[in-house]
Amino acid sequence: MYAEIAFPISSYQTFTYKVPESLDSHIQVGIRVRAPFGNRIVQGLVVATHKATDFKGTLKEINDIVDDQRILDHNLWKLIQWMSKYYMTPIGQVARTILPSKLSTKYQPQKQWMVQQSIIVPDWSLIKNAPVQALLLKAILKKKEICPVSEFGLLTSSPLTVCRALSDKGLVLLSEQVLIPDATGFTFKPLDKTLNFSASQKEVLHDIEAGMVSNKYSPFVLHGVTGSGKTEIYIAAVQHALDNGKTAIVLLPEISLTPQIGGRFRSAFGDSVGLWHSKMSPALRAWTWKRMCSGDFKVIVGARSAIFAPLKNLGLIVVDEEQESSYKQESPAPRYHARDVALVRGRLTNATVVLASATPSLESYYNQAQNKLIYLNLPDRYGGAVYPQVHVVDMKQEQEESGKYGQVFSGLLLEKIEDRLAKKEQSIILQNRRGYAPVMHCFSCGEIVMCPNCQIALTYHKTHRGLQCHFCGYYAPSMPQECPSCRSDQMKLSGMGTQRVEELLEITFPTARILRLDQDTATSVAKLTKTLEKFADGEADILLGTQMIAKGLDFDRVTLAGIINADTGLFLPDFRSGERIFQLVYQTAGRTGRREIPGEVIVQTYNPENPVIKHAAQLHVKNYYNIALSDRQELNYPPFSWMVKLEFSGVNKEKVEQSAEKLRSSITIRRKGLEILGPAFCYREKLRGRYRMQIVFKSSKQTDPNGSYLRNMLKKDVMPKLSSLKRSGVSIHFDIDPVSLM
Ligand code: ADP
Ligand code: ZN
Ligand code: ZN
Repeated sequence: MYAEIAFPISSYQTFTYKVPESLDSHIQVGIRVRAPFGNRIVQGLVVATHKATDFKGTLKEINDIVDDQRILDHNLWKLIQWMSKYYMTPIGQVARTILPSKLSTKYQPQKQWMVQQSIIVPDWSLIKNAPVQALLLKAILKKKEICPVSEFGLLTSSPLTVCRALSDKGLVLLSEQVLIPDATGFTFKPLDKTLNFSASQKEVLHDIEAGMVSNKYSPFVLHGVTGSGKTEIYIAAVQHALDNGKTAIVLLPEISLTPQIGGRFRSAFGDSVGLWHSKMSPALRAWTWKRMCSGDFKVIVGARSAIFAPLKNLGLIVVDEEQESSYKQESPAPRYHARDVALVRGRLTNATVVLASATPSLESYYNQAQNKLIYLNLPDRYGGAVYPQVHVVDMKQEQEESGKYGQVFSGLLLEKIEDRLAKKEQSIILQNRRGYAPVMHCFSCGEIVMCPNCQIALTYHKTHRGLQCHFCGYYAPSMPQECPSCRSDQMKLSGMGTQRVEELLEITFPTARILRLDQDTATSVAKLTKTLEKFADGEADILLGTQMIAKGLDFDRVTLAGIINADTGLFLPDFRSGERIFQLVYQTAGRTGRREIPGEVIVQTYNPENPVIKHAAQLHVKNYYNIALSDRQELNYPPFSWMVKLEFSGVNKEKVEQSAEKLRSSITIRRKGLEILGPAFCYREKLRGRYRMQIVFKSSKQTDPNGSYLRNMLKKDVMPKLSSLKRSGVSIHFDIDPVSLM
């Protein structure tokens, strides 16, 4: 027998291997094997098997198999093929994303020997000539409870041998215990809430359930305002799937949401829920994966890559906050979008897919208008909770009046925080920048201290008193005393990071209890969980943080949201920057007043007349989306066109420029509706020591309805030229449906 194997390399080929007779009965499509490749042994995926081959040369043999059972079902296999084609990525590379090489169904959690005293009264005469055994038995009796044998390692070098001897004489009980990796990452208290679905909730749920019952692909966009009970709908829909013998995947955009929302699922479904995200330990990951394959986990709640969970009989996929850009994998290839993959997986498995948000992506908003998605709406907050009142504060005017330049808190925000502290209500403060000061610059010549590897200003972190690059992690332990350019000693920190806001809050409100949540404090799921729990339990008055705190969280007592600077990122040269700011402001507002007491939101801005800020402050999704869509249409941006970004990068700036120019000049536009932008240097021209240029292709959906013209053109006119360009040390990659052009 012969097997066709795909390896995780950047070539589109598969390779033929001979199957040794001993493995003949084990080899099948969809399992992984190890085989010699070049001068190494590499893991690859069997994509086909043949009885004969017309290959003339000598064929290498497969060494051994990785999986003892088929780990890919038919549909996941089709998904790999689709992703490979759509994202123009070799099949082996896609397979590696779906099946990380460290995962195996053969995984066995560690075991350990445990010992405890026997129920019979010990007969010491049995060990009168064995002092070590006597010593150990005494120690075991003293423990009273079952404990690991290894704990007695101080008394003897081989505690297990001694315990075995004691066990043989019936003096102790010895047992082996499987060490199940600790499934931390949930915060949950058993639900004592009785659900009483409103009329509109019932309607939504009814439609979703009808989709599942039909056993046909049913794609929905659930547009529900913040606090309308979307999460309760997910739980009820998952229950429906389980009742019908099906499984479900729930995708969350942010690790900060997994403890709280995962916890809500845990309290509803107990041990059949597994979490899946990037901060799991390798053991927990392997264990979770095995339990998904075996069918013990029927519900997976997790981040982007949970969309590949190998669940059988998948009935429902929920994508919460579907507009979030964290669903897009930026690197390495395949640069997929989990929301789009969810729709395809749903189609392949005849499942129901619910894309949910208070602020859907413009794509989904447009797709429901095009009848590609079924629109579901929850227009009101649950239980009569009202929408918060928003106050926009013009910080320019504020400064003129107060005469204080660079003011962080407006008078109004201070007043409102003070008021909440007095009333023992909670506040959430958003500052979407971490660190202490995002910029260090020279007062004489204006020079900004940049990362040596990236075109990004270094951020000052007070906790380590050093400068850090938030992109590549470069760290300078001390601050420069003089300007690297003009030698002046007038170096100043400017801008506001969360650490500085925290410091100012502490000074202004010395008795307030403040928690800060950003990438620097949420270094592990345990820490994150603890912070959120503390806040939920009312052990703090103010939760300050980056966009991590803006979405999805549900707290009883929050009645104020303050946005320190709504303009952060407003002027970035990207066609989505407006949409992102709108969503951030809207979502942050959504954290307040989720129960009886109405909430208030303070939006501080230097651009109160900017249409994005204005509409966000009015909390009016449709008004803003219609404007944003007409802008996109005018400029032929997605969702009105297909977009592909070709990125060139390399350490030598000239070579990058040359190869981008060379490629561009070799392509001629032969069709109306197709546009090629660039090559141009990316907004962040240099990252991790590599210069970056991009060419952007846009193909109008009017002339190219399913994007196949663009795809074929790239395949015919661009792909074949890449390998010769790559030889000059420039790497080139495709990004299909890029979420950002920076
Ligand atoms: P969303 O996810 O849309 O922001 P949630 O699902 O968090 O909204 O709902 C907001 C609050 O209202 C939650 O505390 C939730 O438990 C409660 N809630 C929503 N729907 C119901 C219902 N039908 N019965 C009881 N409580 C509900
Ligand atoms: Zn200077
Ligand atoms: Zn850097």
